Amino acid sequence: MNALADHALLGIWEHGAGCGPVARGLLLLGAALPEESQERCAELPIGARDAAILKLRCATFGGRFSGRTNCPRCGEEHEFDLDLVRLLAEATGPAEIEIDNGLRFRMPNSADLIAVARHNDVDAAARQLLQRCCLNVHPEIDWSPALLDEVESRIALRESADYIELGFVCIACGEAWDDRLDVAGCVWEEIAARGRRLLDEVHALAMYYGWSEQQILALSDIRREAYLQRCLT
Ligand SMILES: [Zn+2]
Repeated sequence: MNALADHALLGIWEHGAGCGPVARGLLLLGAALPEESQERCAELPIGARDAAILKLRCATFGGRFSGRTNCPRCGEEHEFDLDLVRLLAEATGPAEIEIDNGLRFRMPNSADLIAVARHNDVDAAARQLLQRCCLNVHPEIDWSPALLDEVESRIALRESADYIELGFVCIACGEAWDDRLDVAGCVWEEIAARGRRLLDEVHALAMYYGWSEQQILALSDIRREAYLQRCLT
């Protein structure tokens, strides 16, 4: 996996600024898997999407991730540090599940999330999502609440093998809770922070030396930093 070049990172940030989380996830996935078509990327299960985005993140920003979260009971802020390379090695699971009545389901993907996003009714969205994911769907299936509950819980259990669940215990009040790491959201925040910093650097060097954005982004990090030190002191 190649690191994101600065001009590519700025392009992703620019395109994703006005997008929702699913579309941003697809933008990141497209950068992680440039050889794949948009359609193929949208069909990738969310767990596999997150793994590909994490590989891109490790190549671009390194394998350590530092984050913050707040205790849901008392609000105390907690910092955490993750070894993403180790987490990537652990994230595996079967591609589909089969329930007792013989129905088989694949894992939801980005195209599914986009398709059901128009529903205001959570139950209707869940029903459509599971119908889309059913591999041997037929008109006689009775999508009863019990069947929906069973499939939802089985998919959630299966997805937990792919998702990164973090367990916390609050040092202030003793509350224990689990959080699922929002991989696409966290990496997007890092892309946005890096994008803002790159524009600051381009702005400073363009003002001082009169270079174009393209010329400044073509400089290596070391050379750009050296020029920044000279023009800012
Ligand atoms: Zn607490």
